[in-house]
Amino acid sequence: MTREKIYLFDTTLRDGQQTPGIDFSVEDKIAIAGLLDDFGLDYIEGGYPGANPTDTAFFSQTRTKNARFVAFGMTKRAGVSASNDPGLAGLLQASGDAICFVAKSWDYHVEVALGISNDENLDCITESVRAAVAGGKEALVDCEHFFDGYKANPGYALACARAAYAAGARWVVLCDTNGGTQPPEIRAIVEAVIAEGIPGECLGIHAHNDTGQAVANSLAAVEAGVRQIQGTLNGLGERCGNADLITLIPTLALKSAYNSRFETAIDSEKLIGLTGLSHAFDELLNRSPDHQAPYVGASAFATKAGIHASALLKDPRTYEHVPPESVGNFRKVMVSDQGGKANFINALKRRGITVSKDDPKLDRLISIVKERESFGYAYEGADASFELLARRTLGTIPEFFSIDGFRVMVERRFDSHGRVKTVSEAVVRLIIDGTTIMSVAEGDGPVNALDLALRRDFGKYQAEIGDLVLADFKVRILNGGTEAITRVLIESNDSDGVRWWTVGVSENIIDASFEALMDSVVYKLMKNRQMAGKIAAE
Ligand SMILES: [Zn+2]
Repeated sequence: MTREKIYLFDTTLRDGQQTPGIDFSVEDKIAIAGLLDDFGLDYIEGGYPGANPTDTAFFSQTRTKNARFVAFGMTKRAGVSASNDPGLAGLLQASGDAICFVAKSWDYHVEVALGISNDENLDCITESVRAAVAGGKEALVDCEHFFDGYKANPGYALACARAAYAAGARWVVLCDTNGGTQPPEIRAIVEAVIAEGIPGECLGIHAHNDTGQAVANSLAAVEAGVRQIQGTLNGLGERCGNADLITLIPTLALKSAYNSRFETAIDSEKLIGLTGLSHAFDELLNRSPDHQAPYVGASAFATKAGIHASALLKDPRTYEHVPPESVGNFRKVMVSDQGGKANFINALKRRGITVSKDDPKLDRLISIVKERESFGYAYEGADASFELLARRTLGTIPEFFSIDGFRVMVERRFDSHGRVKTVSEAVVRLIIDGTTIMSVAEGDGPVNALDLALRRDFGKYQAEIGDLVLADFKVRILNGGTEAITRVLIESNDSDGVRWWTVGVSENIIDASFEALMDSVVYKLMKNRQMAGKIAAE
């Protein structure tokens, strides 16, 4: 039996951005779009070009290689023609494959929020979709407040959906914007929409999680016939969040209730990257992953030693609803680490490193990683540091250089105008081929000064690291109080457009930063020699 495709639409960079405390930079957006694109989603919505400088810069070029890159924006305003609407023109000019228009579908909102007639709103939907299609873009229409609007005035909500479909929208997306609708209502209303002549293969669902039902509502909509699901990584989103794609994707892939009838772009091979994707995203947000997250949480497949553990070891199916390796997670039992080992071998294989499961160096690597993780290292978000650690433990990394020492000084003083000024100065002594090179630099802060000093004179490698850019720097204090441990994550890139992440951990923030910085430079030198960097190119 051929299975029907469910299209996966990610709105982390648009709806997820509404989350309090979340403010993506262009660099963040590029990194997240890259993660999503590599993972294999069908659509990636990037934001509102024209609405703010970040999103406008982000849409200066298409940021995906495989996924359809989607711009989000309003339908044209009433009273101006499509060709005279600057907002619509901005959307048409933005790079990308598709435009997702947000349209009111609840007559109450049309009247109160837009202050226009119901017919004018329908006309705005029709003309905007037509303009997008004429401009060579795939058109989607997010029918905002669709379910509440349908309950209040089914005829008008349907008229909005029908206008979008008739004008040529590839997808009409039904939104539970307030997140209060329940699964049986979702199912009944989607069925009614399909009965009115809009085919399920052109319908999408956009559910919010205000009653904890966003995933259930998305699945209810699929049961009723929709074929696109919109959601976010780790359920990010305003208030209680959006439907969590990290929960939905493995459910569709692994549960026979769905995988017997449906397929998505995420096959079993890609699914192994799920846990890594979820954790890498949390690292980018500089927050701790949720241990109890379905499928990907550190506790999702953890069993305490004892009667469960021994039964689990005899037959994992006794206590696991799916094999943890299928989503790239670990089985955690205190007595044995079989699952962990297979996972390591997989992670190494993805980086082009082959190792036999009987190799004692592999056991050594696993114990080093576990020990370091218990100290605060997080390798899911620092692929390059993981790769270097693995290569150091399993094989050899040339000793390009060594560090004899460094010193950083921060001075707070008054300048000649009597204003407070803080000056940071760093001295680094490195040794290349037996020769000591000492460099001094001033910087905007101690880490910047250290970076400038380290890279001021790198001897024979100087030209090689000229295009190394530190794109981002994230600091997290791990256990509060005076005993605090600091973790620093650095994102680097170079002129090949390759990005890599390195980590440093110490009681001292400067020391942690220096460690991550050193890994970044060594990784760059390895990459230049085709000795590393497979992950970044993946
Ligand atoms: Zn939303």
